Amino acid sequence: MSYQAGRHFLQIPGPTNVPDRVLRAIDMPTMDHRGPRFQEMASRVLDGIRTIFKTKNPVVIYPASGTGAWEAALVNTLSPGDLCLMYETGHFASLWQKLAERLGLRTEFIAGDWRHGADAAAIGERLKADTGHEIKAVCVVHNETSTGCVSPIAEVRVAIDAADHPALLLVDTISSLGSIDYRHDEWGVDVTVGGSQKGLMLPPGLSFNAISDKAIAAQKSAKLPRSYWAWDEMLAANANGFFTYTPATNLLYGLDAAIEMLHEEGLDNVFARHQRHAAATRAAVEAWGLEILCAEPSHHSGALTAVMMPGGKGADALRKVILERFDMSLGAGLSKVADKIFRIGHLGDFNDLTLIGTLGGVEMGLKAAGVAHRKGGVDAAMAVLEGSGASQARQA
Ligand code: PLP
Repeated sequence: MSYQAGRHFLQIPGPTNVPDRVLRAIDMPTMDHRGPRFQEMASRVLDGIRTIFKTKNPVVIYPASGTGAWEAALVNTLSPGDLCLMYETGHFASLWQKLAERLGLRTEFIAGDWRHGADAAAIGERLKADTGHEIKAVCVVHNETSTGCVSPIAEVRVAIDAADHPALLLVDTISSLGSIDYRHDEWGVDVTVGGSQKGLMLPPGLSFNAISDKAIAAQKSAKLPRSYWAWDEMLAANANGFFTYTPATNLLYGLDAAIEMLHEEGLDNVFARHQRHAAATRAAVEAWGLEILCAEPSHHSGALTAVMMPGGKGADALRKVILERFDMSLGAGLSKVADKIFRIGHLGDFNDLTLIGTLGGVEMGLKAAGVAHRKGGVDAAMAVLEGSGASQARQA
């Protein structure tokens, strides 16, 4: 392939564009992970990552993709044959359910239409009916990356409490952490699963388990086999700033920088920035006369927008044209919605002009690919941005 001038636009909903400051931080000699300099850096990172999950409790950092942290959440807290209540928000919820089954757990999957986040009331009803407390965990994906729908985790907590049910609450925040408001402690989540490659602006390769006291207690009686994923020895080593096995040292340098950057901007400003760009993106989609997959406005994602193709197909051909002509990658429709939708990622290291470039690429691509649409999406997005300046959003 010949050189393509200018930056590639990586507008899939993760992995996201890695800012230069994070790349520079990673681009350092790997240090001795048993030495004092590592201990100092790792202690700072292990402390700092708690502030991103909004927890006072420990966060375990794995050198793994998000799938590893999904597995870790389950094997540390559950026993063979335990029943998990899961909610079919989309492709990633379905993969987590499949993973649970493969581990020897039983799952009950509340069916969803891939156009809404989880229904907290339905979860509450099921738990109320479970008078024998057979259900041991409720698993929900916070931001379903395959659909652009957000689940109301605080409401799920309220539903569990209203049912007076002891099930653990396990939440996947792989595509919301660092981009959509999330509060591990306040929302009473027992295990939060996160990943490095989206809102945290890092390359893929790190994933996380934030854990509650109740989850730590559950670990003592949980019987699923675990070794690499086991929290106990890792937590003991982390308490001194070390890891039980060789950590992804250079990614930790990057994480150190990313945490600093998120705090410099201020987490609330980061969330407001994402909401503003999401609103502008939705305005563009509406102006094009296209439909947003997420059918419930209160579930609209701040991290990505999934757009339905007119006529129900042709999304992959459109993405191909956009990649070839404008060097921009958009997210594909996954499994059930393959070729039916495309996904615009607007998360991570992203500003007004990256948004306008992204939407400009989509608008030009729609025309080049001969997709029926109206002009004016970029104008509509600019009107939203002008009406809610970055400084105003920052004060909000
Ligand atoms: N959960 C969600 C919501 C995701 O978006 C992804 C990946 O995109 C995963 C889980 C799986 O993570 P990974 O591909 O890093 O293993």
